[in-house]
Amino acid sequence: MPLAVGNRKTCSRCRVEKPLDAFRLDNNKIDKLTTWCAACIEAVRNASRIANPAKEMWNGARLRAARRSTPFTVTIDDVGKMLEIGKCVYCDRHVECWFGRGRSSCGREDSASLDEIVWGRGYSVANTALCCNGCNRRKSSFTPTALREWADKIEALMAERGLEAAAE
Ligand SMILES: [Zn+2]
Ligand SMILES: [Zn+2]
Repeated sequence: MPLAVGNRKTCSRCRVEKPLDAFRLDNNKIDKLTTWCAACIEAVRNASRIANPAKEMWNGARLRAARRSTPFTVTIDDVGKMLEIGKCVYCDRHVECWFGRGRSSCGREDSASLDEIVWGRGYSVANTALCCNGCNRRKSSFTPTALREWADKIEALMAERGLEAAAE
């Protein structure tokens, strides 16, 4: 494995000699740098995310659930089946798996996401739904009752200010 020479190092994957800041820190290595450059690590990771969208979504939800100590029993296969249907359960729009296709893409409205239908009950098969990122963000942790009250308040405020809804 090539090591850093002066302020340069050759990536063992793309074989390009790059400045040291093109590599990531790795304390297990003699020169404390990864053998692959950061761009190669990212490229391989993104390729795997694109090839395995169900696993990528499953893993993301699993980590978010773990952070909140929320039960998580849904499997990669379960998520795969949801992706085969490929539609948002709330607005019916076709969802896309944008993971691994650039930083901004996962924030897109139509980006596939997993919703914990009843917030706090955990990701079981029954309580997990494939939806678009837009619906997931708008619903958030709201209950249907809270969502209705929220919509009522928006409508009341619009009436009070004489505002009309934008054309759909
Ligand atoms: Zn490289
Ligand atoms: Zn939706």
